[in-house]
Amino acid sequence: MAQHEHVRVAVIGSGFGGLGAAVRLRREGITDFVILERAGSVGGTWRDNSYPGCACDVPSHLYSFSFAPNPEWPRTFSGQEHIRAYLEHVADTFGLRPHLRLNHEVTMMRWDGDELHWVIESANGSTVLADVVVSATGPLSDPKMPDIPGLADFPGKVFHSARWDHDADLTGKRVAMIGTGASAIQIVPSIQPKAAKLTLFQRTPPWVMPRMDRTISGAERWLHRTLPFTGTARRGLLWGIRELQVSAFTKHPDQLGLVERIAKSNMARSIKDPVLRAKLTPSYRIGCKRILLSSAYYPALARPNVDVVASGLAEVRGSTVVASDGTEAEVDAIVFGTGFHVTDMPIAERVVGAEGGTLAESWKGGMQALRGASAAGFPNWMTIIGPNTGLGNSSMILMIEAQLNYMADYLRQLDVLGGRVALDARPSAVGSWNRRVQERMKRTVWNTGGCTSWYLDANGRNTTVWPGTTAEFRKVTRTVDLSEYQVVRVPAQRDARPAVAEEVAG
Ligand code: NAP
Repeated sequence: MAQHEHVRVAVIGSGFGGLGAAVRLRREGITDFVILERAGSVGGTWRDNSYPGCACDVPSHLYSFSFAPNPEWPRTFSGQEHIRAYLEHVADTFGLRPHLRLNHEVTMMRWDGDELHWVIESANGSTVLADVVVSATGPLSDPKMPDIPGLADFPGKVFHSARWDHDADLTGKRVAMIGTGASAIQIVPSIQPKAAKLTLFQRTPPWVMPRMDRTISGAERWLHRTLPFTGTARRGLLWGIRELQVSAFTKHPDQLGLVERIAKSNMARSIKDPVLRAKLTPSYRIGCKRILLSSAYYPALARPNVDVVASGLAEVRGSTVVASDGTEAEVDAIVFGTGFHVTDMPIAERVVGAEGGTLAESWKGGMQALRGASAAGFPNWMTIIGPNTGLGNSSMILMIEAQLNYMADYLRQLDVLGGRVALDARPSAVGSWNRRVQERMKRTVWNTGGCTSWYLDANGRNTTVWPGTTAEFRKVTRTVDLSEYQVVRVPAQRDARPAVAEEVAG
């Protein structure tokens, strides 16, 4: 039989989640791990999204690891290239390169219940065995392209925001932009000045707030470099403000009326045409979909070379794009800003658990995981940014770091239990966690605000967002409660007998 590399932990993905997990493993004194990355470099979604104008709408001092502060952030809201460079820097600073296996796209991970380890196969033909899998593939990794009749025969350039075609020169071209999410509203002002004509297909108008972006002055950077506690204080302030906003999203959506007024005046400043303003005004409560930040979007839409079609793209006929309302436009290129497979992540089809079924099958009725990490029937497998760990208004890095606390304690618990051992989340614990989350979800703006969004799955259930503060999530993920897990062991006398489950007193 071929000898395969066997590691204690396999981390899948090298975005914020994967690199964060790797740093945390080293901090815990664990060096027997690999990071399997499908691409040729690190960075995850911040590597893949290189569209013009790509930037983060969470301030840089909060959208970075607490253990790797960067006093040199150049802007309050950093651009993609700076965030990507930061992640490369993290990989170097924390000595992660030797653990990285680039161009290792995981095609299958299968739990071997006899040996109590995961068998992980990659597209390049290699196989790695791992006692524990930390799946950090992220929800924004697989682009979603709508199934549009006639698209395959379109003669011009077609690409998705997350797979930008940098060889396609849009100068002087007629461009159709599909979608009005966070990606599209950054792309529109970036390509409008060069396009001959830009036709925006808007299925649902977003709420857009002004974006207070500015250069971080040399004096500020000097201060953060020289007196690091000032950077920490800045981060703390940014965090605290966002924590205070949470209850309006989760319990009192009626309080968001004032925010709607600010967003409307943001629009009114640039959009003078009442017909266009009517098209752009949302009919649902602000916050129901992600609140977008831009001070350049509306001014771009007011330019004479832009047409807003208040309808989705329904069909392509030759080089003509056709909206659901029948509006037609002839174009040279189509750019899809249509989001990602979030509630139907393709990676779930590649995880095969203890009973031989896939995670995708197990999640058919909706994604669910104990404390956002563990799925029942998938021993020693955990996910970073799993179900119901997303945020509507703050930094995902806070949630990732909370999950890393959980991961570290999980590994400690395995050490304490000793021997060849695995933890499998009890279905009752997963169910009870999920019921509590869904109960709280009922009052939130994401469920009551009168919109559909990628937060909701095909069954209309919100399986993506955390209905609380980041502080609360950190508290509930500080330690692993062993009573929520079944302990699985291989009997000491190894023979053909299968692994056995052990009861642990709660
Ligand atoms: P998204 O928010 O899922 O937006 C997809 C857009 O495509 C929506 O406007 C959707 O319309 C539209 N759409 C889908 N099919 C369509 C069709 N046939 N015709 C017309 N429109 C269609 O995707 P995204 O903009 O890539 O953003 C995803 C997430 O990534 C964000 O919510 C955010 O978390 C993150 N992100 C963050 C930043 C940032 O920090 N600034 C930037 C980019 C992305 P409906 O609204 O009607 O469904």
